[in-house]
Amino acid sequence: MIFVKNSEQIRLMKIAGRITGEALARAGEMVREGVTTKQLDDCIRRHIEAAGARPSFLGYGGFPGSACISINDEVIHGIPSAKRVLQEGDIVKIDVGAFIGGYHGDSANTFPVGRVSDEALRLIEATKRSFELGVEAASQPGARLGDVGAAIDGYVTKMGYSTVKKFVGHGIGQDLHEDPNVPNFGTAGRGVRLCNGMTIAIEPMVNAGGAGVYVLPDGWTVKTTDGSLSAHYEHTVALTADGPILLTKV
Ligand code: MG
Ligand code: MG
Repeated sequence: MIFVKNSEQIRLMKIAGRITGEALARAGEMVREGVTTKQLDDCIRRHIEAAGARPSFLGYGGFPGSACISINDEVIHGIPSAKRVLQEGDIVKIDVGAFIGGYHGDSANTFPVGRVSDEALRLIEATKRSFELGVEAASQPGARLGDVGAAIDGYVTKMGYSTVKKFVGHGIGQDLHEDPNVPNFGTAGRGVRLCNGMTIAIEPMVNAGGAGVYVLPDGWTVKTTDGSLSAHYEHTVALTADGPILLTKV
């Protein structure tokens, strides 16, 4: 069941979104060689709690961190650890959620650690661009979910990369994960018709190699099967009569 939000609910989601986006930006500023993923997680938790919110991911399904932090061939759901130290040339994905006023925000970005390869930068840029194309597709009158997935996957494939199929974006609101699923692939003209008041997390996960992924024995961390680099970009997006609003963009 899809929960369509009214303007008051979207106003509340803007608050959760802003705190989410700010926490992610703060952590992004901290990214450099020698920093541990635990330090990034602590920074995110402090920011969210200082704003009067709570980290959406902390304890979600038993997840032990406030943010998911994943390095290089780790795609998503990496567990923050004092033993994971960022190295020059890494790319690190930080995924943050904040809950306040009854609503969640959810946003992710991929950050280079120091100087990284041109190949890594190209992947990061392409992932962000695929997100933008997904939002553009979602904003067309009469758009369907398949249009969003097709726009993302079409661009990613053209760039020589693969979208992850096993994990997808999602509706978001009072629950972190609401209907509908928002896949990063699909067939144009197919799927749920989008309408104003829908709030969705559009989040391409893009592998430099194949689409295959697997979960580590820790039960959380998702890695690429072929060991290729992966990038992630996500905003919570509200579809409105005035166009799409990126609620987690700061
Ligand atoms: Mg997320
Ligand atoms: Mg999400």
